[in-house]
Amino acid sequence: MSDEKPSKAEDEYFARLEFERRRKEIEARQAKLQDEERARLKQLHHMRCPKCGMELAEVEFKGIKVDRCVACNGLWFDGGEIDQVLAQGKSFFGRLGNIFK
Ligand SMILES: [Zn+2]
Repeated sequence: MSDEKPSKAEDEYFARLEFERRRKEIEARQAKLQDEERARLKQLHHMRCPKCGMELAEVEFKGIKVDRCVACNGLWFDGGEIDQVLAQGKSFFGRLGNIFK
């Protein structure tokens, strides 16, 4: 038996399995929500930090809308934007850091 650390591929595999398990649980719960409840939740949470509930300030940088929580400093991207961020290269986060000093 080996006591080696899991490889990167194994780490990714297990993280992906965990995400898929959680996604299915969440989707099952969300499927039960009525339209009215969905609208109420959206109104309550839109442009609010998912961690602390305070308002997000949105800044567009390099064509990417970055939402920053001014209370806990969390940083959020919309769906699909992470691909745009990765396309910008490593310097993107450093430049982002300069904006949110
Ligand atoms: Zn926050």
